[in-house]
Amino acid sequence: MPALPFVPTGRRRAALWLIALIALVAAGLSGSYFTARSVFTSLEVAGAQTRLALYSGTIDNELSRLRHLPPILAESPAIKQVAAGGNPAPANTTLKDIAAQASAEAIYVLDPTGLTIAASNFDQPDGFLGKNYGFRSYFRNALQGQQSTQFAIGATTSRPGYFLAAPIYRNDTIAGVLAIKLDLTALNGVLSETGERILTSNADGVVVLSSHPEWLYAATSPLSESTRKQIQASRMFSDYPLNPLALAEEGPGRVRLDGAMHITTDLQLENENWRVQILSPVAPIQNYAATATLVITGLLSTIAAGFWLWRAQRVTQALNESQKDRRRLLREIEVRKKTERRLERARDELERTAQLAALGRLAASVTHELGQPISAMKNHLVAEELSGRPKVPLHAKFAGLVARMEHVTRQLRFFAKRPDDMNEAVSLKRSIENALSLVQHDIEKADITVDVDLAEVSGQVLGSSLRIEQVLVNLMRNAVRAMGGADERTLTLRLAEIADEAVITVGDTGEGLGDRTLEQLAEPFHTTAASGAGMGLGLAISTTIIREHGGIMTAQNKPRGAEFTVGFPIVRMAGAA
Ligand code: ADP
Repeated sequence: MPALPFVPTGRRRAALWLIALIALVAAGLSGSYFTARSVFTSLEVAGAQTRLALYSGTIDNELSRLRHLPPILAESPAIKQVAAGGNPAPANTTLKDIAAQASAEAIYVLDPTGLTIAASNFDQPDGFLGKNYGFRSYFRNALQGQQSTQFAIGATTSRPGYFLAAPIYRNDTIAGVLAIKLDLTALNGVLSETGERILTSNADGVVVLSSHPEWLYAATSPLSESTRKQIQASRMFSDYPLNPLALAEEGPGRVRLDGAMHITTDLQLENENWRVQILSPVAPIQNYAATATLVITGLLSTIAAGFWLWRAQRVTQALNESQKDRRRLLREIEVRKKTERRLERARDELERTAQLAALGRLAASVTHELGQPISAMKNHLVAEELSGRPKVPLHAKFAGLVARMEHVTRQLRFFAKRPDDMNEAVSLKRSIENALSLVQHDIEKADITVDVDLAEVSGQVLGSSLRIEQVLVNLMRNAVRAMGGADERTLTLRLAEIADEAVITVGDTGEGLGDRTLEQLAEPFHTTAASGAGMGLGLAISTTIIREHGGIMTAQNKPRGAEFTVGFPIVRMAGAA
């Protein structure tokens, strides 16, 4: 079977969108995090370099501030005299004064064996007089004619110091060495106060100055055996084991110290082969970057949410507008439909009026044309009756036929006639009673029960009582005829006042209307009556009369039989309740 192409369904497409969105957000977050981290790292490196220059300058200044003093003092007669074996007492005092002024820990004179023969701290319990420093490299180098310097932990005081030495010449031979010791304890204090992580290591990589006392005299890189031996020979670090510092390179400019990652910035001192290093922990930089990312994300989310809200509001607004338009359109459609319906009704009305007019013309000519022969036939029948001749059976039949023809022409004449006086106050109650009395004979013949309930109507119906009675007689006759074959035969007559209308109801328990509408029933000549029993003009005449009175007729089926309702407008006299 060939593989079906992958077509994402609605749910799957939503999941793909979600994954893409998550990937995008993750990429955006990590991108902004790394950018922020690199910016903060650059800022930290730039700041560290500036601070490093300051700290290095401070150390350099301290180490070099007395650099020129040893050769100058070595040339002084008092010192030369001591080196020549003279009385050291005056030199001791002089050296003590100079040391105090120069803020040196000690200034002292060594003979060629390294024995201290004069010292500024002659009167101190841990003074250098009588001590031999022949093992120190600064002494040995000076004895070789070189001005020299050396870091070392004091053999007598155990305090770290920076030693400066110069040879004392006497008659071109070196008669001794003048040495100065600077106390570096204060410098460590200064570095501590910076609150930074600062290491200063010598050429062998051993830490000689540090902001953190625990890192002092530790090796930043493993020491070779020969270096270790040399260091021990000059007793540079007393008995310190020079353990390696827990420091590991982690790429350019990055080290791991005691497990924590640091950025390192370093600088070589100008006057000494020492390296000053600032270790900046990476954790705070990462925290700044994370915070910045969160802030940026928060800002972007707020902007996005704001934009989304704004858009949603616009969409809702547009939706409301379109709904308003839709409602307006619906209203317009409704109005148009109503207008169309009204037009239709008007057209029907026009058609009906035209039909009735035509009917009127037809009725006029038929009644006119038939009037003459019918009267002639009647005259013949009367003359025959008066002749005294015995009546033939046909006579009665002809008389009946002539009477029917006369009845039909009388009905037709209605359409040819102009309306009578239409402005009398009609009592509907009386009209109903009159009409009922006219059909009473038919009612009794058909054994029909009459159920009458006529309320008083407040106000009047204006029109012609004769014509209204004509309507009622027609409705009642139709009802009686419809109940011809029914088991139960009840004629219901009601008069009630509803709103501003007087409403007459004529109900029966007959065969009902089937699915014919009143419009269909009221078509002229529409009839189900047996030939001769009806012409199908009754309802046509009735609707015309009701219309003339501004009334309305409706017809409907009931569970049993039909019900015709006629409503006439009530006119209230001014001042009437
Ligand atoms: P006609 O009575 O001469 O037939 P109408 O115009 O009065 O003429 O009535 C038209 C037709 O309407 C009747 O033939 C009959 O079919 C129907 N009709 C009128 N009234 C009723 C009624 N109460 N029950 C059933 N059908 C009726």
